[in-house]
Amino acid sequence: MSESPATGQQSQPAAKPRKFQAIKGVRDLLPAETPLWNHVEETAREVFESFGFGEIRIPIFEPTELFARSIGLDTDVVSKEMYTFADRDESMISLRPEATASICRAYIEHGMQSWPAPVKLYFMGPMFRRERPQKGRYRQFYQIDAEVLGGNDAPGIDAEVIEMIMTFFDRLELKGLELDINSIGCRECRPKYVEILRAELLKVKDQLGPDSQRRIETNPLRVLDSKVESEQAVIATLPRMAAHLCAACAEHFAEVKRQLELRGVIYRENWRLVRGLDYYMRTTFEIIAQGLGSQNAVCGGGRYDGLVELLGGPPTKGIGFAIGEDRLILSLQESGKAPAAPGRDVYVAWMGEKAFATAVRAAKDLRAAGFRVELPATERKFGKALEHADKLGSRFALILGEDEVSSGEWTLKTLADGSQAKYTETDLLAYLREATATPATQSGS
Ligand code: ATP
Ligand code: MG
Repeated sequence: MSESPATGQQSQPAAKPRKFQAIKGVRDLLPAETPLWNHVEETAREVFESFGFGEIRIPIFEPTELFARSIGLDTDVVSKEMYTFADRDESMISLRPEATASICRAYIEHGMQSWPAPVKLYFMGPMFRRERPQKGRYRQFYQIDAEVLGGNDAPGIDAEVIEMIMTFFDRLELKGLELDINSIGCRECRPKYVEILRAELLKVKDQLGPDSQRRIETNPLRVLDSKVESEQAVIATLPRMAAHLCAACAEHFAEVKRQLELRGVIYRENWRLVRGLDYYMRTTFEIIAQGLGSQNAVCGGGRYDGLVELLGGPPTKGIGFAIGEDRLILSLQESGKAPAAPGRDVYVAWMGEKAFATAVRAAKDLRAAGFRVELPATERKFGKALEHADKLGSRFALILGEDEVSSGEWTLKTLADGSQAKYTETDLLAYLREATATPATQSGS
């Protein structure tokens, strides 16, 4: 608010305060939704830790240079989507658009190459990309990420990482998943294949759209990614990486597939699944889920070699993936996975000063015993209190009036069927423990 220097008074009458809204592409997650988010995150922790992964927490922002180097300057993420700003000392900073770069930076910074190999890390948290917001695409979105760094590149690691993701999705009862896998070769065989592909693409250049035409020069592999309808027939005739893998890569890929079968993981081989960056190699995979429209990829991942080296570390094998948590949750919601209602176990309805003192003590004891308790701060008539209890989704109302306090027999009402019974303080706790051990739908009988 501007002040007039002479008087120190406000120079203008206060304007109507601005009504704020969250920035475009950024959302609040409200209590009706957060139980499902917590459930997903707890399940991820449980499953990933059962595979020997430890949690790492990385900063929200990093030097811009870290992402520019690792993700690459000519990617959409770095060239168009990053939130980048100058810090007060003029150094350039970016909000993280993904986790792999930071995790590799941390691997080097903390000398993790001296830890028992391979180092298995998982991470979950918000990412930031300035994209066009739509269903399943946000500017602040959440990823669940894991990376295996160091040691060797045994196919068993690739297979186990994929098995872990599928175990996680299975535990969440996420239905209708499709897992696509591919091998994109290595530094030996991929460049040769890319040249063969480029030569073939040049022959059919006039049947391709402007984006694909440009990619013949910049990144021929990305042409395989194209969703442009008119290009599909000609892409189907292009040479495939599988036929050009070197012996070591072919063997690696065959063993990954054999081990997926051994682990009961169902996959589909998709020769058009590629990664645009040079350090990606061999195994790549993507998982799509139902009910998401065109933003249907819930997980992308693959093996990378040379990324740690690119960031100034020692030569290090790596494989990792990122799950889009927002899309995962959307898919669960579309398939009818209702989040657990926040609700209350016990609503303490009280009337009168004496009853209030008892109500405060009862609420304290019930909360200590692990129940979700609502204690209204002001007195309400019992009728109004019960309505309020109902609106809050309470299972029981504990009714404390003068009578209950003087007799020591407390009234407990089951809101689902309106039945009520009297309990002493000790019996009440035992009864509630037993009653809440079963889901609400089965209570009240
Ligand atoms: P897409 O092709 O959908 O743009 P991407 O290739 O950019 O995905 P990655 O960088 O591989 O995605 O990130 C892994 C996962 O993160 C994606 O499979 C997706 O589920 C999720 N994801 C990526 N960008 C967004 C976003 N803007 N909003 C919500 N989820 C996202
Ligand atoms: Mg994207």
